[in-house]
Amino acid sequence: MSSQPHRVTVIPGDGVGPEVVRSAVRIIDAAGVRIEWEEAEAGAEVFRRGDTSGVPQATRDSIERSRVVLKGPLETPVGFGEKSANVTLRKLFETYANVRPARELPGVPTRYAGEGIDLIIVRENVEDLYAGIEHMETPDVGQCLKVISRKGSEKVIRYAFELARREGRAKVTCATKANIMKLTEGLFKKVFEELSAEYPEIAAEHLIIDNVAHQLAKDPAQFDVIVTTNLNGDIISDLASGLVGGLGFASSGNYGDSVAIFEAVHGSAPKYAGKDLINPTALILSSVMMLRHLGELAAAERIEDAVLATLEEGRAMTQDLVRQSGGDVDTAASTTGFTDAVIANLGKRPAAVAPKRGTALAGAVPPTPMPAWSYGPERYAAIERRTIGLDIFIETDLSADVLGPDLERLAGAGFRLEFVESRGTKVYPSVGLSSDGVRLLRARFVTPDGAAALDAALLGLQGRVAGSHPGWTHVEKLHVFDGAEAFTKAQGQ
Ligand code: NAP
Repeated sequence: MSSQPHRVTVIPGDGVGPEVVRSAVRIIDAAGVRIEWEEAEAGAEVFRRGDTSGVPQATRDSIERSRVVLKGPLETPVGFGEKSANVTLRKLFETYANVRPARELPGVPTRYAGEGIDLIIVRENVEDLYAGIEHMETPDVGQCLKVISRKGSEKVIRYAFELARREGRAKVTCATKANIMKLTEGLFKKVFEELSAEYPEIAAEHLIIDNVAHQLAKDPAQFDVIVTTNLNGDIISDLASGLVGGLGFASSGNYGDSVAIFEAVHGSAPKYAGKDLINPTALILSSVMMLRHLGELAAAERIEDAVLATLEEGRAMTQDLVRQSGGDVDTAASTTGFTDAVIANLGKRPAAVAPKRGTALAGAVPPTPMPAWSYGPERYAAIERRTIGLDIFIETDLSADVLGPDLERLAGAGFRLEFVESRGTKVYPSVGLSSDGVRLLRARFVTPDGAAALDAALLGLQGRVAGSHPGWTHVEKLHVFDGAEAFTKAQGQ
C-alpha cells in the first residue's frame, strides 16, 4: 500500500460514464490504494452551457496538477461546436500514444477462444486525419488534410518499441497504407524502419493495413505489438476488441510525455444510462492500466486477477456477457452486482488464464522518456530546398480540354503546365484515362527546367490564373527537399 496518496482527476462523463467510473473507483478504494480523487467535468453538459470545447478551464487546471486522468465516455452533442471533447483532451495534453491491449479473457466466449490472443495496438493519437483540418473546396467537394510528421511518428513508434522492450515482447508490426499514401503513411513506415535498427532484439515487420485487418480476422494470435497511424489504429483496435469479447472489455490508455488519460473504448451507450446494467469491465481494466502507470503494480495485479476470477467463475455476468454466452438475461448481474463480486474476489487468482506473452503487462511503466529531439532550426537549415512550381485547384464548369489550353497560355514564359487532373487522375493532356468530373480540377505548373522559382514569379502565376478563373480555391507550393520531389504524381502522369 502506498504511503502518499496519488492525485487523480476523475471525469465521470456522460451516459453510462458515471456508473462505470463509480465501479472502478469503488474497486480501487476497496483494494486499499490511496487516491485523492479530484472530480472534474467534461462533455455534454459543458457543451450545452456554451463552452464549445467541452472541457472547462477548471478541468484543465485539475489535469495540470494531477497529470493522471480516469474518465468516463464523453458525448459530443450535435449543434454545440461539434468538436469531440475526447479528441480535445487528447490534443490539449498531447497524449500521442493510444495503447489498447486485446487479450483473451476467461469466461468470455469468442470465436478465437483458446488461441491465446495477447496483442497491444499502439495508435498515434493526435495527427493524421484527426487533425480535423477540413474544407469544402466547392459547395459539393470536401477535403480533409492528412497530417503526418516525422516527429509525431518518431514519438509513437519509439513508444511502441520501448513498450515491447519493457514487456519482453518479441515483435512490433508497423501497419500503414504506404503503398498508396507515400508521403504520409510512407513517412511513418520510413521512420519505423529507421528506428527498428535501435531495437535489434525485437523483430520488426511492416504490413499493409488491409492485410493486417485480414490477418487479424484469420490468425490474430500471430500479432504481438502493432503500431500504426491514427485512423488505421482507430479501426483495427475496434476490430481487435471484437476478437476478445467486444466493447464491454476494451480498455485503453492515452500516454503523453507528462499526462496520461485512461478510459474505456466504448462510448456513453445512452440507452443504458442510469439503468445499472452496463458492463464496467472495460473501465475497470483501464483503471488497472492507470494503477500500473502510478507504480501501484501489486494493486493492479490484485484487481486484474479479481476481474479475471469473476469472469471465469461466471456467477456475476452482466447482460452483454449473458447474451454472448447464450444465457437468460433475466439472470444477469447489475453493474453494482458485478462490482460487488469483483470486490469480494480481491485476493483470488483465476485458475486458468492464458499465459501472458510479455514479462510485464500493458502500461506497466510510465511513458517512455523521449530522447532530446533533433528538430531544431539547424536540422532544417541544413536541408537544401527549392520551390519549382504550384498546384492550383480550380472550381470550374469547363472541361479539361477547354481549361488546359487556357492555362497553358496563362503559364507564361516562366512556367509550363504539366497536367490538369480530376480527383488524382490526369485528364489533360489526355492519356486516355477518364474521370467523372466533380467541378474541381487541379493544375500543376512547374518551371521548365526544374529551376527554383522566386516568390514574385509564383505570385504572378497565381494572380494570372485567379484573374481568368475566379473559382481558384487552393494552392500548394511544389517543393524539392535535398533533391527529392516533395509531392506525388497524378495517376496516369
Ligand atoms: P457506444 O456508446 O459505445 O455504444 C454502442 C453499443 O455498444 C451499445 O449500445 C452496446 O451494444 C455496446 N456497448 C457499449 N459499451 C458497452 C459496455 N460497457 N458493455 C457492454 N456493451 C457495451 O457507441 P455509440 O452509441 O456510437 O456512441 C454514443 C456516444 O458516445 C456518442 O455521443 C459518441 O460520440 C460517444 N463516444 C464517446 C467515446 C469516448 O468518450 N471515448 C467513445 C465512443 C463514442 P448493445 O446495444 O448491443 O447492447
